[in-house]
Amino acid sequence: SLSVSGVSKSFGSVPVLIDQSLEVAEGEFVALLGPSGCGKSTLLQIINGLTSVDAGRVVLDGQDVTGKSGTGRGMVFQGADLFPWRSALENVAFGLEVMGVPRKERLERARHYLHLVGLKGFEDAWPHQLSGGMQQRVGIARAFCVKPQLLLMDEPFGALDVQTRDILQDELVRIWEAEPKMVLFVTHGIEEALYLADRILVFSKRPARVLKEIVVPFERPRREAMKLEPQFLE
Ligand code: ATP
Ligand code: MG
Repeated sequence: SLSVSGVSKSFGSVPVLIDQSLEVAEGEFVALLGPSGCGKSTLLQIINGLTSVDAGRVVLDGQDVTGKSGTGRGMVFQGADLFPWRSALENVAFGLEVMGVPRKERLERARHYLHLVGLKGFEDAWPHQLSGGMQQRVGIARAFCVKPQLLLMDEPFGALDVQTRDILQDELVRIWEAEPKMVLFVTHGIEEALYLADRILVFSKRPARVLKEIVVPFERPRREAMKLEPQFLE
């Protein structure tokens, strides 16, 4: 499980998080919603260990990982954020390289995940040769490839057209159901959150505070169920 407790963070004199706590259970998919600038990305970066805290702790499966990046967490960044000088396959393999997995094995595993996200045949493509949706897929494969206990996804489908987004949402559900893991998924779409998550946390504007918690009452797959109950979106 993931336990964030009493986390506070200011940038200069601007408080972004004040005494923030949240829990994610084993295999739980949690969506985070909230206005632009409220601190969602900051919270994810803190959980990933890329941003320091002023106070509080991040504990993953009993281990204090506050301020430590790497172990157990995979992140899909806002705007896929691929390495432009690495092929699609080498981007996916990156996390395994950091972990010291031998080259042959890491390329095999990377190929497997690249195929899972529908990019068979694009192993040698450069990021600039891929569409936005394809780049997001590479980012997702890269995060899944390290088999993290916790997956942090920061608006991964934010900049995509509706059709591509629906396809990637379905792919994510399929991959996640095959290998359920903890997910924290930031989005601006309440429909997307309802479609994907077990639980939704709605944040206030900065400093972020949980205003509302929604436990999603639908079984998966949900697209049809949600069309039948549009009042749930109000
Ligand atoms: P969005 O939905 O637009 O992505 P967000 O909820 O992810 O917004 P954050 O990126 O976490 O918001 O930013 C929260 C606040 O912290 C903003 O006011 C932002 O300007 C500020 N902030 C974030 N990172 C830094 C930084 N490295 N230095 C200074 N201020 C920062
Ligand atoms: Mg953000």
